[in-house]
Amino acid sequence: MWGMIATWRMAAEGVEKGCQILKEKGNAGDAIETAVREVEDFPYYKSVGYGGLPNEEMEVELDAAFMDGDTFDVGAVAALKDFANPVSIARRLSHEKVNSMLVGEGAEKFAHKEGFERKNMLTDRAKAHYRKRVKEVSQTLKPYSGHDTVGMVCLDSQGKMTAATSTSGLFMKKKGRVGDSPIVGSGFYADSRIGGAAATGLGEDLMKGCISYEIVRLMGEGIHPQDACEKAVAKLDRELKERRGEAGDLSLIAMNHKGEWGVATNIEGFSIAVCTEELGVTVYLVTRQEDGHCTMEVASQEWMDNYMKTRMAPIEE
Ligand code: ASP
Repeated sequence: MWGMIATWRMAAEGVEKGCQILKEKGNAGDAIETAVREVEDFPYYKSVGYGGLPNEEMEVELDAAFMDGDTFDVGAVAALKDFANPVSIARRLSHEKVNSMLVGEGAEKFAHKEGFERKNMLTDRAKAHYRKRVKEVSQTLKPYSGHDTVGMVCLDSQGKMTAATSTSGLFMKKKGRVGDSPIVGSGFYADSRIGGAAATGLGEDLMKGCISYEIVRLMGEGIHPQDACEKAVAKLDRELKERRGEAGDLSLIAMNHKGEWGVATNIEGFSIAVCTEELGVTVYLVTRQEDGHCTMEVASQEWMDNYMKTRMAPIEE
C-alpha cells in the first residue's frame, strides 16, 4: 500500500508526480520532496514558493519543513529569502543532528554553501498583488487573507511515512514572522508506525493546539484519520472560541500507516488532493457540517477549469 494526501487543489500536479515515484517503489522522502517542489515551482500559486505573496516590506519570506517518520528526523527553514525550493533545504537540514531548523540569513548562508538554487522569488504578478492590497487596505480591507500552505503526508510501499510543508505564509506578514508550517507538531508530523498530519490556516492559532501532533496521537490510539482530524479540529476550534472569542482558519489532512486518510476544517472552501494505490489523483472539496463532521465531494471538471482560470487571470490594480 502507498499513498499521498495534500492540502488544497494546488497540490494535485505535485501529488501526481510524487505518486509516480511511489508506484515505482520509490521512497516517501523523494516522493514528497518532488511533489512539494512542483507546487513551489508553479508561478501562479501565490502562497507557495515562486510567485508567493510578499511580506509587509515586499519581500517573499518562505517557511518549509520535512519530517522522516522512520527516524523522526526533522528539518525546517523559516523566513528564507531568494531560494527556489525551500522544501529541499528543509530535507537536507533534516539530516543534521543539531542546527536542523534555520531562519533568515542563517538559512540562506547554509543553502548557499550547500549549492541550492538561488532565485528571486518575487514575481511581477506578486508585486501587482502587493500594490493592489496596499491600495485596498488603505480603503478598509483586512490584510493577511490570501495565504495557503501546501502540506503533504506520504506513505511508501516499504511503509515509510513522511510529512512536508511549504508556504510564503501570511500575505503582508511582518518581516521575520514565522507561522506553523516549519514548526514540528504544529504544521506537520509523521510517525511511520502510526501516520502523519499536516496543516494549513492561521499559523498563530494552529500552533496553540500543536494540532498535527495531536492528530497523530489520536491515530495512535487506533482512531481513524477522519475521526482524528474532526476531533482535533473541533476541539481546538471550540477552545479558541471559548477562551479568545474567535478561532482562525484550521484545516488539516492526515493519513495513517495503512493508507487510510482523513480531513477536517472549520472553514468553507477547503480542498485537498489525494492519491492511493486504488484511487488515482483526486481533488475533493470539503464541506464542514453544523456538527463538525466534514463531508467530501469530488471536484467537478467545471470547478477544476474555473480554478485554473481564476489563478491565471490578469490582476486588475
Ligand atoms: N499556516 C500558514 C501560516 O500561518 C498559512 C496558511 O496555511 O494559510 O503561515
